[in-house]
Amino acid sequence: MAKLKIILLTATLIVTTHVVFSQPIVPKDRPIKFQNNYLNFEPPGLFEFLKWRWHALIDGHPKSAQAPTPRIDADLAFIHANSQAGRQMQPTVTWIGHATALVQFAGLSILTDPIFSDRASPLSLVGPKRAHPPGIALKDLPHIDLVLISHNHYDHLDEASVRALSTQAGGSPLFLVPSGVKAWFKDVGISNVIELAWWQSHRMRSPSGTVEIVFTPVQHWSGRTLTDRMDTLWGGFAVFADDFHFFHVGDTSYSQDFQDIAKRFTDRQPDQGFDLVLIPIGAYAPRWFMKDQHVDPVEGVQIHKDLRARQSVAYHWGTFSLSDEALDAPPAALAAARQEHGLSESAFAAISVGQTLRLPLRTAH
Ligand code: ZN
Ligand code: ZN
Repeated sequence: MAKLKIILLTATLIVTTHVVFSQPIVPKDRPIKFQNNYLNFEPPGLFEFLKWRWHALIDGHPKSAQAPTPRIDADLAFIHANSQAGRQMQPTVTWIGHATALVQFAGLSILTDPIFSDRASPLSLVGPKRAHPPGIALKDLPHIDLVLISHNHYDHLDEASVRALSTQAGGSPLFLVPSGVKAWFKDVGISNVIELAWWQSHRMRSPSGTVEIVFTPVQHWSGRTLTDRMDTLWGGFAVFADDFHFFHVGDTSYSQDFQDIAKRFTDRQPDQGFDLVLIPIGAYAPRWFMKDQHVDPVEGVQIHKDLRARQSVAYHWGTFSLSDEALDAPPAALAAARQEHGLSESAFAAISVGQTLRLPLRTAH
């Protein structure tokens, strides 16, 4: 029995090294630079982390997926033509994988939390490995105008991906990042960066007029090493064009922040909320460990309702295994949550990797 325990502990430590770069371990006595509005988040300590990995190992989590994440060939001809359409651009969202999506509206092509690399990790051989190729390869992207980075965790801020984007033909996109993240970009040699605190906004010109992007609170945390936990901010992005309102949630646990966001924007949205909201639905199990970091699909549906979303699309699932649920569990849990809330399948869709949804203009509703 003692021998078995030693074997299990050794295995736990191996698994620990495997996932440590995407998960929280923090010395408890460090001062914290940024904090949430409704939760004094303390990144779990080593004990909680090992407890989680130990139980996952004993219980055999995550189970393997019954089916691969659905993936289709992206309609590159349409996406590229649409990127050149200027004022005539049709609003679209294409899921590339994890929290990476290409969103087009107001004549702009926007990328959220781009990760095209094989692993969500600082190392090329260790760390969560992607389960499918990106829905659009980096080389096949249209010209990207704007990149929205929600926070600096490895699965949302990938060095190789942002480096590649910064050298795209036609010049670097603008990177909007949370407070404190600009210094990291400077270190990797990228300068077309604006950092925002909560409720700060940036206005940019687009073929269809001025677009305003507001950085909002969500409930999460940040950190790329053992010593920089909570040193930089995290958040969501509300993007307002005349004919389309978009929200990129990023990573979040559930909080009153979403009602605050809806309230904050009621003047701009008297009759309807956001035309498109990207909501994370994966990396939620086990709840005792994940509930302060990531929503589950039931809470995702609550965000959809809080933001009065006309259309929500699920992301942050199916690409990297970061938690105890099987890689294909989130959409099934989302289906149950939709049913519980009387929501149609199309209102909060789990689309395939590579799939493009074409959406109506705000004025067309
Ligand atoms: Zn995160
Ligand atoms: Zn994440």
